[in-house]
Amino acid sequence: MKTRQLRALKMKNIPEINHCSPKSRAYWCYRCKSHNTFNHGYSCKDCGASMFCPAATMPWMIVLCGIGFPLLVFGVGIILIGGGDAGLMCLLIGAFPALVGGMMLYHLRSWFAWSSAQRSKSRRELDLEAMDHPFQPVCEDTSAFRQWAKQFLSSRKVSQLCEKYSSAGPAEEREARISLRVEGEIKPPPPPEE
Ligand SMILES: [Zn+2]
Repeated sequence: MKTRQLRALKMKNIPEINHCSPKSRAYWCYRCKSHNTFNHGYSCKDCGASMFCPAATMPWMIVLCGIGFPLLVFGVGIILIGGGDAGLMCLLIGAFPALVGGMMLYHLRSWFAWSSAQRSKSRRELDLEAMDHPFQPVCEDTSAFRQWAKQFLSSRKVSQLCEKYSSAGPAEEREARISLRVEGEIKPPPPPEE
């Protein structure tokens, strides 16, 4: 209950962005299954996995698979009809794009399964899921946070968000401490603040 309350309070910092609502142009973590905030280099702030942008990855996947897999099939065909070296060359050239394209395809399949399941949910269900997600994005005045937020909001709204957080943050933290004190065991009252 305490953890849930803290999560809810943190979420209040950025109610404008739901990290469980699918957006193909936003970086997505395939392990956490959400648009988590990221560090520089697009590593997930929660699990550290490399995040990817589905809309940007799709064209690369099509090109790499389109080059790699036909070359592999072609190479095997040439070897079977006795054209040894030429077939091996096709396999060598096709292996790298097929491997990278195949990995992209694997992760994109995971994205499509998740995003189609999320799109079938109501706004309310997505909001509840975001509140209950193990990772909660927390507003920070850093370039990585601004870059993350700009995937969902205009630059002006991101600036407003950071301003709102810098003024509301300490109050929310105080509110969290008060609610935990109420929820927890009876303790002596805190010293009066000056
Ligand atoms: Zn993650």
